[in-house]
Amino acid sequence: MIQINENYLKLQSSYLFSDIAKRVAAFAASNPDRQIIRLGIGDVTRALPGACIAALHEAVDELSADSTFRGYGPEQGYEFLREAIAHNDFQALGADIRPDEVFVSDGAKCDTGNILDILSSNLKIAVPDPVYPVYVDTNVMTGRTGGWNGGRYEGLVYLEATEANGFVPAIPDEAVDLIYLCFPNNPTGTTATRGQLAAWVAYARENKALILYDAAYVAFIRDDSLPKSIYEIEGARDVAIEFRSFSKTAGFTGTRCAYTIVPKSCAGYDSEGSAHPLHSLWNRRHTTKFNGVSYPVQRAAEAVYSAEGKKQVRQLTDYYLENASLILEKMRGLGYACAGGENSPYIWVNTRTDSWEFFDLLLNEAAVVCTPGSGFGACGRGYIRLSAFNQYEQVEVAMDRIAEAVRR
Ligand code: PLP
Repeated sequence: MIQINENYLKLQSSYLFSDIAKRVAAFAASNPDRQIIRLGIGDVTRALPGACIAALHEAVDELSADSTFRGYGPEQGYEFLREAIAHNDFQALGADIRPDEVFVSDGAKCDTGNILDILSSNLKIAVPDPVYPVYVDTNVMTGRTGGWNGGRYEGLVYLEATEANGFVPAIPDEAVDLIYLCFPNNPTGTTATRGQLAAWVAYARENKALILYDAAYVAFIRDDSLPKSIYEIEGARDVAIEFRSFSKTAGFTGTRCAYTIVPKSCAGYDSEGSAHPLHSLWNRRHTTKFNGVSYPVQRAAEAVYSAEGKKQVRQLTDYYLENASLILEKMRGLGYACAGGENSPYIWVNTRTDSWEFFDLLLNEAAVVCTPGSGFGACGRGYIRLSAFNQYEQVEVAMDRIAEAVRR
């Protein structure tokens, strides 16, 4: 008899996006003439940078001739891309990351889930609340939590991000083994200072813990005082794995390319307390279960680091940041306390009411779709997330409509 992984039965169905879709479909059916503006999704809307498109075309042409054809590449990624990443994203910031510490993959989502393969199932795990749901669900799937109880999973330590702490969770009083951090944050849009990250690194070192640092939205940081990588913090190399993605940086959500940094000095411990480099475990996992990102996509990702590519990526992210800044200004102007929206494409709005009630108000009165904050965790109740991924003109119309709707 084939038995299932019963941990999957503990998972709470994510009603969030299906509920949103249902409500939007019902509204559209009864209001066929209203043009709906979506500020809910976390997907980009603008085309790939020209430099990436040119590199893609060129790489596809290479595959069309026997003399330049490539089959399987190195599972960890081609040297040209690993070098470009290490040099531009880390060494240029003074962070000592080498090309052979870069693992190219098809997504930060997969990597943040897959990393659990190399860690014990018996860990005390701290996750932010509100949270990018993948961190929690992948722990549930692998049996690292108890059951669902009172809106949370038993066995997890929830790091609450609230107005009181500026949406940057405080370090827990107890010792934990694994810590998820995400800055700029999804969903709150907040960033962490050097001091705040340094405190987490010190805590991890003291407790021999591991930080999983998700920097998928790093390309939106404009404030030079903010750290872009956790490896800008002294000592982080020994206690942190960093996840990055080209998805939001360069519009690769459909093209798929990301990377994970596992420094060679980053250690985990066996049951006897002996240290082992996580790099060799992840290398083993990655080369056994993954066969590399396609050559044209890696060439397109490499083009992000060309002079043209850098300029175009900057323009792309600047565009979304203008949207974010408009949303932030308008929502604050309407009297709502907001977080994010600077150095981030997300704006986290305190609706002073129920998340879903506010969602319905925006949908029914303004034909604008947002994401109810309660879908990201207990601390998201009463909030909504607005996303800057849309056309500027659409955002302008959406904000005018919201202003009218909430003043009614
Ligand atoms: N990490 C965070 C915090 C995200 O919000 C997302 C996507 O929304 C991802 C990772 C996924 O990145 P990728 O497209 O590389 O899988």
